[in-house]
Amino acid sequence: MNEFLKIAAALADGTEQLRGVSDSPRLDAELLLAQALDVPRSYLFAHPEDALDRAAVERFCSSLERRSDDLPLAYISGEKEFWSMTLIVSPDTLVPRPETELLVDQALQHIPKNENFSILDLGTGCGAIALAIAKERPHCDITATDVSDAALAVARENANRLALANVEFLCGDWTAPVAGRTFDIIASNPPYVPEADPDLERLKHEPQMALLSGKDGLDAIRRISVEAKSVLRPGGTLLIEHGDNQAEEIARILSADGWGEISQVNDLAGKPRVTIATG
Ligand code: SAM
Ligand code: GLN
Repeated sequence: MNEFLKIAAALADGTEQLRGVSDSPRLDAELLLAQALDVPRSYLFAHPEDALDRAAVERFCSSLERRSDDLPLAYISGEKEFWSMTLIVSPDTLVPRPETELLVDQALQHIPKNENFSILDLGTGCGAIALAIAKERPHCDITATDVSDAALAVARENANRLALANVEFLCGDWTAPVAGRTFDIIASNPPYVPEADPDLERLKHEPQMALLSGKDGLDAIRRISVEAKSVLRPGGTLLIEHGDNQAEEIARILSADGWGEISQVNDLAGKPRVTIATG
């Protein structure tokens, strides 16, 4: 790209470069250029004839290169929208996915508006599920755990920025940090990608610990199925996100571990992505 290139031309070049890499090449190019210029996206549309200086061209080219190598846009911008909140993310956290909003939506249906329920989010990452529930249910106490201290630092920063004080963050292996306590609801988006999944190449920039879970992708869910029983009140609800081809096996695991009222919820594409069970 040339120095003195104009905004409109830079956007056209950037969009071409990202075609085939991203599902939204034009939008990605706009966000990256706005970031390189340190202006809001709307500025680009109001000033298409402005020329970029050398430093801005360099910043834009470097972002385009990283994006072309499948680096998620959210790691370049440092943030991601989830449940109408802007969350900080880093390479220590999974980028929250839109489909995880289905899990939040289902969890909320099990949490009455005015009751002081206690809720546990296992494997909170940047805090997406815990913070969305905390925002919608200010009377509830949310506990969020993760084995990654680095991810929890990001989650705590998100809670502070959003001024959500009803969430506590604890570090440790699944339910270990909450041993001896009981919750009304447990929600989790655990790692569930099988070890040899071809998708892993595309996901290479995200923490492998957030994605991988043994040969069939179900190791974490097997652990949660056993451990969650000891920290859920009798009659409480467990909700787990999973891959669309894992529903049947998960129902079998939960049933074998004594969970009742097992049901599964489809995503917008009609595929089962959340399993719900009663303890
Ligand atoms: N809840 C976030 C979301 O939905 O965007 C992150 C989900 S990510 C798929 C799974 C999370 O589980 C990661 O943050 C990872 O660090 C955490 N994790 C992996 N193994 C764990 C373990 N043994 N105990 C607790 N958390 C674990
Ligand atoms: N939905 C993620 C993906 O395959 C996987 C997240 C997870 O393992 N929980 O892009």
